[in-house]
Amino acid sequence: MALDIIHLLPDSIANQIAAGEVVQRPASVVKELLENSIDAGALKIQLIVKDAGKALIQVIDDGKGMSGTDARMSFERHATSKITSADDLFKIKTMGFRGEALPSISAIAQVELKTKQADTELGNYICIEASTIKKQEPVATPDGTSISVKNLFFNVPARRNFLKSNPVELRHIIDEFQRVALANSEVTLTMHQNDLEVFNLTAGKLSHRVVGLFGKNYKEQLIPCTEETELVKIQGYVGKPESAKKTRGEQFFFVNNRFIKNNYLNHAVQNAYEGLLPKDYTPFYVLFIDIDPKHVDINVHPTKTEVKFDDERLLYGIIKSGVKQALGAHNVSPSIDFSYDVNFDSAAVELSRQERTSKADREYGQFKSTGSPREQSNLEHWSKLYEVAQNESSVDQQQLQKEIGDDAGSVTVESTINQSGDSIKTESHPPFQMHRTYIVKQVKSGMMLVNQHLAHERVLYEKHQRNLQNKTGSSQRFLFSRQLELNTSDLSIVKELEEEIKALGFDFEFFGNNSIVVNGIPTDAIGLDEEVLFEGLIEQFKENRKDLSVDKKESLIRALSKKSATKQGQKLSDEEMTGLIDQLFACENPNYSPLGQPTFVILDHSKLEGLFR
Ligand code: ADP
Ligand code: MG
Repeated sequence: MALDIIHLLPDSIANQIAAGEVVQRPASVVKELLENSIDAGALKIQLIVKDAGKALIQVIDDGKGMSGTDARMSFERHATSKITSADDLFKIKTMGFRGEALPSISAIAQVELKTKQADTELGNYICIEASTIKKQEPVATPDGTSISVKNLFFNVPARRNFLKSNPVELRHIIDEFQRVALANSEVTLTMHQNDLEVFNLTAGKLSHRVVGLFGKNYKEQLIPCTEETELVKIQGYVGKPESAKKTRGEQFFFVNNRFIKNNYLNHAVQNAYEGLLPKDYTPFYVLFIDIDPKHVDINVHPTKTEVKFDDERLLYGIIKSGVKQALGAHNVSPSIDFSYDVNFDSAAVELSRQERTSKADREYGQFKSTGSPREQSNLEHWSKLYEVAQNESSVDQQQLQKEIGDDAGSVTVESTINQSGDSIKTESHPPFQMHRTYIVKQVKSGMMLVNQHLAHERVLYEKHQRNLQNKTGSSQRFLFSRQLELNTSDLSIVKELEEEIKALGFDFEFFGNNSIVVNGIPTDAIGLDEEVLFEGLIEQFKENRKDLSVDKKESLIRALSKKSATKQGQKLSDEEMTGLIDQLFACENPNYSPLGQPTFVILDHSKLEGLFR
């Protein structure tokens, strides 16, 4: 006789299995509960944890609450109010939709729910433990929902033992809390751990939220970043290079307000900082990517933060150019606010997929070689402003603003108009050198202090970059060639780099076993001792290779820029100072040295006045 052996698992076991996927650690519960509160339209959410969430995780919200029946239903598997048909899957606006969180959590913990809708007198209380309802009764409770999850994994000791130490679990909880907090800055959020307040975040703009989460010093470190194309809208903040850290973790991408991790896109941001950060440093960023859900595969595992885009390369290019522009545009001068017409590629979406990609490639290539068209116009405007300040300008600030505004359409100059409405007139003054180290220059917005060495390093760096790329480094030939002795290891470096070194304008040949004969050096390096220069170059190259995660060309360019840049303590003539400043502001990225140090600072009128208050 045939024996039937297949039977359905009891719900409690099925839920426990599902819980294995949904609930990995206390932080997973925090995420699910916070997201439910957001989905319920809450404007105020409190998170309370005890013992890093192992003893208690409680979330109290002022959202729309649940009816008695819904409160009971919410613990059933695949019970959700958020989708009703498969079609809905493609237009999901809520964070959850699978209806798995509450049943999973209640399978492996003791859960108490209190919930009330605004239009009812009494709310509902449900106590559920290992999927079994222990109690359900009406209760007096405020509008909204409060869920307490106690003793997580109390019935699955193996998993409870698997939890990490409290500091580690708390770190995971804070990570989840931060992500929800960043994506919902209009929601008031607090977090307590063992009765101590960890966060108290009032509702406000994103920048306010960043400061609330990461500290006051972020206020000065945020550079707004926006980019809009037909395909995608990107907005948020990136950190100034000097605020970058060695520890990772303050990098946030949100796709349609959902936190994601994506190494490829992270690389796009990192890449936009190229030449601005020391090795192993990662910049802060919080970027929101809004994109039609049809271009994204969000229908992935509930706890996974990875997503797939149908055209990642295009997105890469857009993000990189957006961040680059934000960096390039910012802080050229504190008193100039370049707000761009962020329309990079409005026709892109009309094009077919291949065309789109190749177009992105082209534009992307363009950024690499010459800077984006916008960067260029940015420069023009800057130099215009700068010239005006320089050439005995008594041009009215408003007129200037109009002038600049007219053809840019979007560039605004935050004027330095004083109280009475008169413009501050600037007279031309030649720059002067201070301590043979800084160049002091009066500019329209106040006073500019340039670090001569760092500025020159930036100028040379960009020049060498072009030279190496186009093999256009020009060489100044000596009347008599010089012979240099090198040790074997240095000689092998020179052999390895022969092509690149020559492209930069060195003219040399190998001679005998351990020598080279130098016939000429780059024109920029004239006046320097060729032996010191050559050996310094190799020394610096070796050092760069040790400390920097850049390729050999980049190391070489940086080494040469550093070695041939005007030293501190070198006297400069008026023409040299003016020339250096002009060249600096003709750079693609005048603000920072190749290693990310500021090349100049501006003390604007308000700062100067502030000094005497
Ligand atoms: P999902 O969020 O995927 O729908 P959950 O198991 O997280 O699944 O929640 C089930 C249902 O319970 C939700 O669809 C929602 O209707 C209701 N719910 C859960 N938490 C709350 C809350 N804080 N406020 C109001 N309703 C809630
Ligand atoms: Mg949910």
